[in-house]
Amino acid sequence: MQERYCQCGAAFLVAYLRGGPAQLRAHIVAAGKSGMLTVHRCPCCGQPVDINSLR
Ligand SMILES: [Zn+2]
Repeated sequence: MQERYCQCGAAFLVAYLRGGPAQLRAHIVAAGKSGMLTVHRCPCCGQPVDINSLR
């Protein structure tokens, strides 16, 4: 897994999961109180997060 950061500095992990034959899908994962969860928006600043916009 790779570590990426939002523009606000929040840290995420990027997990690559198989979504089909020869296909890997990137999931952006945040560690929360209830464990790891896939997010589409930064829980910190609310900005949409995707694999290409994270640093
Ligand atoms: Zn953020």
